[in-house]
Amino acid sequence: MVVVIKNSADEEQKENLKKWLMSLGLNVHVSVGEFNTVFGLVGDTSNVDMDFIRSIDIVETVTRISDPYKNANRKFHPQDTVIDIGGNKLGGGNFQFIAGPCSVESEEQIIEIAKSVKAAGATMLRGGAFKPRTSPYAFQGLHEKGIELLLLAKKETGMPIVTEIMDLSHLHFFEEVDVIQVGARNMQNFELLKELGRIRKPILLKRGLANTMQELLMSAEYIMAGGNGNVILCERGIRTFETYTRNTMDVSAIPLLKEKTHLPIIADPSHGTGIASLVKPLALACTAAGADGLIIEVHNNPSKALCDGPQSITPETFTGLVKTVGSVRNAIKESAV
Ligand code: PEP
Ligand code: MN
Repeated sequence: MVVVIKNSADEEQKENLKKWLMSLGLNVHVSVGEFNTVFGLVGDTSNVDMDFIRSIDIVETVTRISDPYKNANRKFHPQDTVIDIGGNKLGGGNFQFIAGPCSVESEEQIIEIAKSVKAAGATMLRGGAFKPRTSPYAFQGLHEKGIELLLLAKKETGMPIVTEIMDLSHLHFFEEVDVIQVGARNMQNFELLKELGRIRKPILLKRGLANTMQELLMSAEYIMAGGNGNVILCERGIRTFETYTRNTMDVSAIPLLKEKTHLPIIADPSHGTGIASLVKPLALACTAAGADGLIIEVHNNPSKALCDGPQSITPETFTGLVKTVGSVRNAIKESAV
């Protein structure tokens, strides 16, 4: 971090600032130029509050030259993190398919879909019980009853379950849930992230609708700083000026985040495109780009789905998707030799 001091600052003020920075455990290299004095801060600056330093009277500018996240940073943890979810390993070359409906609608629906996605090769079941809907009049999910039905489907199929939390006050409903999803709309709900840092369950953290990759990593850092290193990142498309698709699937985020972090990264081409016919092509693209897994919305009757029908694929299409993703992975492995 580089701090440029205003040329109006006197020696005593500069010395006081230097001492205070050193009290934070940093080394301070002072360069005195013709017009300005510059402090180069050396050490772990990830928990230094840049805005606070910027607000000090004698400070002109503050520039960060290293990443503001430490726990999620690959520099300090070069090996890929591998997360075990009920015996399914994710990350470090281990690929998983998470599939299921946008929302749990009934016992028959979730059991039927769970069985068909498992038969197609899914290793985990998704399904929303608490749904973040734009309209307060739209189906809001079955809430705790939805979680009960997911647990029933888990009992029937043996698949671990993934479902979204929307509010801290619901955390007690998630005791038997295998992976807690933090949806795009809650990616920067910092109190929720801090609380999820206190538990040890895997957290599936989705990128916000209009959030940068660095903001996603900082949200992962919130969870990890609390002691929970089991964070799975998810690229699910971002808002752009494009209107033909629901979101713009940022495929580039996958290889870039892999450079920046050791955490596993999965892709959600269902929300990333909003269009069922685009789910498979984007699933293939994200696999080729290095994703550690996919989360796909599958419905036994998409035209009757209570949520996200237009982007839901049928179990038959999902079966083909799993096969072709397998071929892409094999092709990449073979050509890497
Ligand atoms: C979901 O997975 O159903 C969902 C609401 O996703 P997102 O938070 O990415 O919109
Ligand atoms: Mn959905």
